[in-house]
Amino acid sequence: MPELLKAPLVVEFPFTRSLGPVQSAFLTGLRERTVLGVKTTDGRVLVPPVEYDPVTADEIRDLVEVGATGTVTTWAWNPAPRRGQPLDTPFAWVLVRLDGADTALLHALDAPSADAVRTGLRVRVRWAAERTGAITDIACFEPYEGPREGLYEGPDSGEARDHSGDFANAVTGIVAPARLDYTYSPGRAQSAYINALAERKTVGERCPSCRKVYVPPRGACPTCGVATDEQVEVGPRGTVTTYCIVNIKAKNLDIEVPYVYGHIALDGADLALHGRIGGIPYDQVRMGLRVEPVWTEGGRYPDHYRPTGEPDADYDAYKELL
Ligand SMILES: [Zn+2]
Repeated sequence: MPELLKAPLVVEFPFTRSLGPVQSAFLTGLRERTVLGVKTTDGRVLVPPVEYDPVTADEIRDLVEVGATGTVTTWAWNPAPRRGQPLDTPFAWVLVRLDGADTALLHALDAPSADAVRTGLRVRVRWAAERTGAITDIACFEPYEGPREGLYEGPDSGEARDHSGDFANAVTGIVAPARLDYTYSPGRAQSAYINALAERKTVGERCPSCRKVYVPPRGACPTCGVATDEQVEVGPRGTVTTYCIVNIKAKNLDIEVPYVYGHIALDGADLALHGRIGGIPYDQVRMGLRVEPVWTEGGRYPDHYRPTGEPDADYDAYKELL
């Protein structure tokens, strides 16, 4: 049995979102060291704020300012912080009900050990030195034994006070990076597929029951539910079954737009794989186009597919592969 492959895999993309009036006021407020919530129709104060009443579904816009101090309502200890988490030393994830609020906010608590954390612990916002209008403007919470902070009706009132939500240079959008960082093992079938690719061969597996050839193989036929182990070399030529024209340039991808990404049914395969179509103007790519792989030096899979010059395939030849 050949050695199974494994490799680190990172899936990462920035997610850009606009904020709307409530989230815009909330995040701009953090930049100004002010925590805002919203008041529901029955008078409850929600922090973090939402745009719609969770009970009545009414649109809610009445902003209020709450305290920068609060009470831990529940918590979990994080002994091994990961990249991108709020603190790089062990800390507690906490739900904090800020003074004046009726709901709790999820954040990090800087505490020396789990023994120092308990439900009911009084805490205070530790503001980030540089604030940009993001939840990370609260660097974390810290244990605190002093009077309430950030409420102006007197230290013991605990009442949220109305706030216009008006700030100069309001933050209207954020970029939230999403990242999955893990070790991937492709398993027996795909390890064999990848090892064959290293020799510029595309090898799928045939289902013993329905005779379909899967490329790339997953080790089992999803239709019949049986293991596949008969290896079948397919391609290298194939047929474009469907495609799209990409007009948005992806970060870290050195391909000029527009370009074409297609589904390609390699000859002998019963499943289309996807790849970039090159060597032809983007507006001349079509269903049925016959293509072949183009390898680059050191490449572990085809860089792209280009036209072979053969006549287009008949629709009937690939209609079951769409
Ligand atoms: Zn099958």
